Amino acid sequence: MSSSRAEEQIRADIVEVGRRLYARAYVASNDGNISVRLDGERLITTPKSVSKGFMTPDMMVVVDHHGRKVAGDRDPSSELPMHLEIYRNRPDVNAVVHAHPPLATGFAVAGIPLTRAVLAEVITTLGSIPIAEYATPSTSELPAAIRKYIKAHDGLLLANHGAVTCGRDVMGAYYKMETIEHFAKISLVARLLGRENLLSREEVDRLQGLRGMYGIASPATICTDAPQAEVEQATCQVLEAPQSSTGRLVPEPSGGAVSTAERPVLGYAEGLQQASRDGEIRLTYRELTALIEDAVRHLRD
Ligand SMILES: [Zn+2]
Repeated sequence: MSSSRAEEQIRADIVEVGRRLYARAYVASNDGNISVRLDGERLITTPKSVSKGFMTPDMMVVVDHHGRKVAGDRDPSSELPMHLEIYRNRPDVNAVVHAHPPLATGFAVAGIPLTRAVLAEVITTLGSIPIAEYATPSTSELPAAIRKYIKAHDGLLLANHGAVTCGRDVMGAYYKMETIEHFAKISLVARLLGRENLLSREEVDRLQGLRGMYGIASPATICTDAPQAEVEQATCQVLEAPQSSTGRLVPEPSGGAVSTAERPVLGYAEGLQQASRDGEIRLTYRELTALIEDAVRHLRD
């Protein structure tokens, strides 16, 4: 493929990813932005003030690694400095996607990171998904906030804002955004039901060992020491996965591996969680659907 054919394909892929972000309501209005590394000198990015659901290939803006426009009729996204920060820290990354998927953003608003070992797909692709400190969008605070985590993570929540993912190509970065939102949805349902069984540390090690077989690059290993809260830049991932010599799943005991204090306190579900501590709870499909809809409404409000 000649370089212009390659660029044509990248522009088409960005349009497609934008369409999917909008169609799945991961962004509203003109939110979100996407970028791809074109070569050692240049990036291509989505323009500002445009719905990502209705872009055309000619709308994209080509910039250099300082964010200066090289080609294009429009101005680049105001979140470009966050993208540049990611490329600076991650030579292995060729694409970045930023969006506001409502369930994952709900966790980011509640201050609850997605760092529990629960789903095999998440362990193999992303590992843990921490929350970068709150920063005013479109300011230099945002690149500073993600700096702490970006070397060791391919996906981050942004406190009271949204999420950002990166990958070898734009579809790979987009799929990580899908995985985060899907994980947030499943985590919310499990927490509404009042119980979240965790994968054991041994099972997590086994899953991470399989990454090579799936052709998935690992951003970083799991931290073996206590979380380094004060480190400037994380070099490993903090993941809640209890040691267990008995099984691959570790049931969440009352006040056990996952303390109830860490649970999200959702007023409407509180009674339900209380009941579940004493034993099993049964819901009809209709009740479960109502709870999920209620929770989604709650997150949007
Ligand atoms: Zn944003």
